[in-house]
Amino acid sequence: MADDGRTWKAEKIVTDIAHQFLSIYGHFYQPPRDDPFTGLIPREAGAAPFENYNEKITRECYRPNAEAGNLARISFDLGPTLAAWLERHHPDVYQAFLAADRENLTRFGVGNALAQAYNHTILPLATTRDKRTQIRWGLDDFAHRFGHKADGMWLAETAVDQETLSILVEEGVRYTVLAPWQAAEPITPGEPYLVALPGGRSITVFFYHGSLSAGVSFDDDVTSNADQFVATHLRQQLDQGKVERGDDQLIIVATDGELYGHHKPLRDHFLTYLLRDSAPAQGFSVTTLARYLKGRPPQRTVTLRMPSAWSCSHGVARWDTGCDCTEGDSSWKHALRVALNRLAVRLDTLYAEATATTLRDPWAARDTWLAVRSGWVSGRSFWAQYGVHGHRPLRRARAEATEQLLEAQYYGQSMFTSCGFFFEDLERIEPQNDIAFARRAISLAWQATHIDLQTEFLADLAAARSWRTGRTGANLYRDLPAVRENMLPPVTAALSTAASADETAA
Ligand SMILES: [Zn+2]
Repeated sequence: MADDGRTWKAEKIVTDIAHQFLSIYGHFYQPPRDDPFTGLIPREAGAAPFENYNEKITRECYRPNAEAGNLARISFDLGPTLAAWLERHHPDVYQAFLAADRENLTRFGVGNALAQAYNHTILPLATTRDKRTQIRWGLDDFAHRFGHKADGMWLAETAVDQETLSILVEEGVRYTVLAPWQAAEPITPGEPYLVALPGGRSITVFFYHGSLSAGVSFDDDVTSNADQFVATHLRQQLDQGKVERGDDQLIIVATDGELYGHHKPLRDHFLTYLLRDSAPAQGFSVTTLARYLKGRPPQRTVTLRMPSAWSCSHGVARWDTGCDCTEGDSSWKHALRVALNRLAVRLDTLYAEATATTLRDPWAARDTWLAVRSGWVSGRSFWAQYGVHGHRPLRRARAEATEQLLEAQYYGQSMFTSCGFFFEDLERIEPQNDIAFARRAISLAWQATHIDLQTEFLADLAAARSWRTGRTGANLYRDLPAVRENMLPPVTAALSTAASADETAA
């Protein structure tokens, strides 16, 4: 889309003289919204006149930012579940994200896109094996789409613990982005730091500018005028010592990408004007994290508060036990997490046992399964690599059952999508979607093995209760669209009665 050679030239001139750099970071992400049985997105009333929120946000944010050429001038991650949707429904907008990264790679030798852990899972709350799968899937997805390996990875909610960082490094990731309050000691935002990890390894982290990013996110006045934004808000952030010494310094504004045009109307225009005109005109060179890092390896080390995240001040309690970051009684969060964790253990045990005679290494096979179900790797080469009999095909029914269990693993990952825990109440579409993914996993396991994982899951879900409506996770499960009779284990009469009584009590 738009490529303005004139402003790139202007930027080159500024880069040669500037010591002040600006990098805008956009986290572009939407959870999967489709019914996992039909693949269709139910009409979302709140998005009217659009069919669903993805369509609304595309019109308000993704498309205008793509058409204005903003994407090439920022650092960004494009969540895999959003990328897959855009690729199908708005291929021209999808291509603009890829082209932005390609343009950076060509001009500067480094792309401006980062990968994202696949299902937007809160990794500190995931098992070691799930962390690795999430990171590998995210990196695979990135490499397939962008055509090169990712240097950086965005962590969902910037949620971090030491094991997550170690796995990032083992998988070849060089840097990530964190909130300034995730440092355990005073830091200078914008400056790259090294975090030491066990085994003599380390990873680079950038801390974004906290109050500035919050202002951009939540205060309309901050972004009402790009010239004023640079003159007041950006200038305020400068370290005067560095200015006097002529040292380089970087200001990082990190927010959801959807802010520019969707959460905040017209801010796509603000972004265009800021990046193209206001910042360069006032002596700021617009850059990306990868470009800044290229000539400036980290000089200092930092220790982190772990686990921690950008949108919770209680470690990662917002997605686990609940905390007062969200209003009301958030104890449903822990009950939902326990229900999902217990289902995951049962799914994993079933998968490992049932595939012991069909797959050589079921967990490595799971890591590759994303590529098969996405069509990047053929089933034939998957079976050649992971089948216990190598290229010799299994009986069809056994191969099918194994593939159903691999799909159950896929939905067993999807059910931990962090959006289900982010908001205040259980009776919302986001937790219900996680429960719908869990039901899909239960269905696939049932079809493959005729083992019922539903009964115990429903019993666990009954402990998660909406403080608004009094209804439980089991009620939400029962509200999901009906599926063909043989797709799920039969709901036992006892449970059915218990769930109804539960509803009546509410
Ligand atoms: Zn919190």
